[in-house]
Amino acid sequence: MDSPHSRLSHEEVIRRCLARRFGIFAFPEPLESRFRDQKTDKRNRHFPLAGFLAIVIYNLFFISDRIMVPDISATAWRLRLFVVSPAILLVMGLVTVKRFRRHSEFFIMVLMLLTSSGIIYLLTQSHHPNVAHYYTGIILIAIFGNIVAGIRFKTGLITSSVILFAYVVSLGSMPAMGREAGINSALVLCAALFISLFGCFQLESEARREFLQAMLQRINARKLAETNRKLARISITDGLTNLFNRRHFDTVYDAQWRSAARVSSPISLIFIDIDHFKRFNDHYGHQAGDRCLERVAGAINACVKRAHDLAARYGGEEFVVLLPHTPLDKALIVADLIVRATEKLGIAHEASPTHPFVTLSIGVSCMTPGDSGCPEQLLKFADIAVYRAKESGRNRIVSLDPAKEGDVLLHTAL
Ligand code: GH3
Ligand code: MG
Ligand code: MG
Repeated sequence: MDSPHSRLSHEEVIRRCLARRFGIFAFPEPLESRFRDQKTDKRNRHFPLAGFLAIVIYNLFFISDRIMVPDISATAWRLRLFVVSPAILLVMGLVTVKRFRRHSEFFIMVLMLLTSSGIIYLLTQSHHPNVAHYYTGIILIAIFGNIVAGIRFKTGLITSSVILFAYVVSLGSMPAMGREAGINSALVLCAALFISLFGCFQLESEARREFLQAMLQRINARKLAETNRKLARISITDGLTNLFNRRHFDTVYDAQWRSAARVSSPISLIFIDIDHFKRFNDHYGHQAGDRCLERVAGAINACVKRAHDLAARYGGEEFVVLLPHTPLDKALIVADLIVRATEKLGIAHEASPTHPFVTLSIGVSCMTPGDSGCPEQLLKFADIAVYRAKESGRNRIVSLDPAKEGDVLLHTAL
């Protein structure tokens, strides 16, 4: 069955949990599992130190055993040395094993119950009047378990209730515990458990709040990164045609020019101009003109396949294709592909005095950057080539090879 949260976004669930002021003691899944995993990891990281401290402090009370309850100090010593200390060591070892790690909270619960019942057992065995003070050891266990060991409030509440219940029930079996001392000890223990549980509650609500805030921060950071990616993409893209824009072309062209210069590699430019496009607009309307630009841009883009090749809208109805590491003859092949792809679109152009459909005039030029020449020069040659294509009748490719000074080859496309 769908939970009421399943229809909400992850972020919305987190925000709702954060908005709740009290009782945030179980998040909806999968948040709760994530929180528990994180808390378990944190608890387990502290386990070696906490376990070591627990063993040292616990066994230090051997001194009190001797002083306070000498009649059962041997039993107390055996209990400390052969039962509780090995149990703590065992748990310390178990939490280093991957499959037991997630049960660390349960192990702490068992240890709390074991150590408390050890003290309760000793209280039922001793006949020494000092037993009236010996129960205080359980207070330390509560403080350590509920606050230092990092268990959840729910676990602490269950464990503390069992300990208090066992203590109260065993009061009648403690021979040296007077009635008044017994009532007082039960009250003090109850208060100590309550206080330590309150601490546990506060720690957990703080940890949960921090967890949610950290999750929100991560979501916000992800959103910001996504927005930045989109903005970066928008800043280099032409809004109408989705090709790269002139600014991006300029940046890449410059970088490719320098890169080609380093290895003396040829770089080619294809300059494309739609023929009689003003007439197209006047005849079919500006919106139809826009659609025509989009379709021609799509056709151009489909012909540009290599990773470093780049097709951009140069402005208006003009496009440019940058082909790094490409000699003139290979660039002419790409130009030819573009002409054919546009021809395939078959966009009618009744207002054109030269052809009944949309055609292109293309100028191609190539240079090998070196000691002479600059990016502007190559652009100029490609532009001159387009001009010559227009002059000689449009719907054609003209290449201008600066290496053969003034040598202009005409390629009539159709
Ligand atoms: P030629 O054959 O000599 O290239 O003539 P032409 O009409 O194609 O060139 P001209 O430079 O005279 O006109 C270009 C036209 O392109 C003018 C302008 O209205 C149109 N144009 C430029 N940008 C856009 C655009 O984004 N959308 C539309 N629909 N038209 C545009
Ligand atoms: Mg033009
Ligand atoms: Mg034109």
